[in-house]
Amino acid sequence: MDHSEFRVKAKEMVDYIADYLENIRERRVYPGVQPGYLHKLLPREAPQLPEQWDDIFRDVETHIMPGLVHWQSPHMHAYFPALTSYPSIMGDMLSSALNVLCFTWASSPAGTELETIAMNWLGKLLGLPECFLNEKDDSPGGGVIQTTASEATLVSLLAARTRALMELSKLNPDVQTAELLGHLICYCSDQAHSSVEKAGLIGLVRMRYIESDAHQSMRGDKLEEAIVADKAKGLVPFWVCATLGTTGSVAFDNLREVGTVCEKYGAWLHVDAAYAGSSFICPEYRQWLDGVELADSFAFNPSKWLMVNFDCTAMWVKDSTALHRTFNVNPIYLRHENSGKAIDYMDAGEEGKFKKKPLRKINTKAIKTHVKRDINGAEDIAPLNKKPNHQYGLEKNANTTSNGDSRYGDTDANDYLNSDSDNDIDGDNLNLHGYTKISKGCGQEIQLEDPNKKELLHWQIPLSRRFRALKLWFVLRNYGVVGLQKHIRESVRLAQKFEALVLADQRFEIPQPRNLGMVVFRLKGDNALTERLLKRLNARGYMHAVPACFKGVYVIRFTVTSQRTTNQDILDDWNEIKTVSKEILMDVFG
Ligand code: PLP
Repeated sequence: MDHSEFRVKAKEMVDYIADYLENIRERRVYPGVQPGYLHKLLPREAPQLPEQWDDIFRDVETHIMPGLVHWQSPHMHAYFPALTSYPSIMGDMLSSALNVLCFTWASSPAGTELETIAMNWLGKLLGLPECFLNEKDDSPGGGVIQTTASEATLVSLLAARTRALMELSKLNPDVQTAELLGHLICYCSDQAHSSVEKAGLIGLVRMRYIESDAHQSMRGDKLEEAIVADKAKGLVPFWVCATLGTTGSVAFDNLREVGTVCEKYGAWLHVDAAYAGSSFICPEYRQWLDGVELADSFAFNPSKWLMVNFDCTAMWVKDSTALHRTFNVNPIYLRHENSGKAIDYMDAGEEGKFKKKPLRKINTKAIKTHVKRDINGAEDIAPLNKKPNHQYGLEKNANTTSNGDSRYGDTDANDYLNSDSDNDIDGDNLNLHGYTKISKGCGQEIQLEDPNKKELLHWQIPLSRRFRALKLWFVLRNYGVVGLQKHIRESVRLAQKFEALVLADQRFEIPQPRNLGMVVFRLKGDNALTERLLKRLNARGYMHAVPACFKGVYVIRFTVTSQRTTNQDILDDWNEIKTVSKEILMDVFG
């Protein structure tokens, strides 16, 4: 494709995109294809000779579109929103065309500086405390755009792990890091997203799940109880993940209580507000942020509800030196003259921009006794509680039953993201042995950064990074605060409307209170009725939703996702639900 063909075809593409989004209501939201359908339509080998653009593009409408879930549809109620918008699309178009990689300031000065500016704007919009912003030369805090909330969680856990290991190493200089690692423990609620469990698996640390209260909220007393018990066994609590807006029911952990406990025991507090974070641009929802000043890191996805298309996870840290210590490498080809004067998201500057804060002291009295003997026989370390079954249908297929084992249709196609892990992390020695094996297999002991060495700045796992700040900046400017707030409030209003419709019908119930834009509902009676309802709704393809399960109660999650959803769409979806419910109740009860 040359310049002149690109000019013509790209303009046609823009028209195609605008037509698609304008008329999306007409498409079936959930596809009716069977696994393997595309394999039957496309050749097994790549073409030897160049193909004409028109021939290629023709296949999009005939072959690709029928196999997509239309996430921008007003009838999309599954998962959480994954919205896009015209300014965001244009940001990504330009970013794709420029394809600049914004890792160091020198790799693209405007790229990294715009990221810092947009993240400061966004942080202020949410009402985050100043310590998370990066406005002064010596601010230790700041924001960074990560790819996903999962990655932000992992980055936070790894930074906290490094901080804890450094502290423990100082106090136990003759003990190997791998041994110390085996004594670290972190916490999240039993409602936390599966990505928190995954971060623990990757970080090779024990994870304890705190039982949530009747409102699915993690409370300080339960967390403290667990921490005290673990410390008595010689474990070292080092990281806690609080969720604001759980995946199953948009429940909120009690941030102030949890934060106070973290502060008392020197644990890093990470806040995962993947979905709900967008709502904090509206002051009326900020009660859930109470205590955020106690957090060490905070992340949410503008790529969910804020109409900045995937990927874009906003992450702030209070003290970025903990990240830099974790991801510190310093090859010569990444050094540049202006190091230290602006943020390098993967910097190799000679002198850090930020002052290092002293590490929090971890009480190592107990661990000292434990690690100084053979910890492979750590018989007095109690087994952790069972990991939760993440039954919110997000990374499982949508008609997961309350047994957690069935799928959307009979699919044998690949699930590229499946939260069903067969790994048993419950065995206490497993993490430690796993780590030791990896460590020895590589012939290396983990290298901890020398705290006296000059700070080098690192904010993330990959080196290369897209110019994501562009689309965020476009969206913030083109909607303005007022436009974004209007969008959030409208989603909540529509969810309230749906909630009222459900509550007015005696056949249904809402077992968990609605928060923000999501309603969880079910047919009264056996789980099987609601399971059948959801399966049939999805098979009909008019609207799309996924399930959740709370303590054995199966529900349908109905999230208002699209900015195109209207009052009439909500009424139409409710009519669809009533029609299908009537059929099912007739089938079962006659
Ligand atoms: N945390 C919560 C609370 C979520 O609901 C989700 C996904 O919906 C995630 C984390 C994972 O988000 P991501 O796909 O950005 O990793």
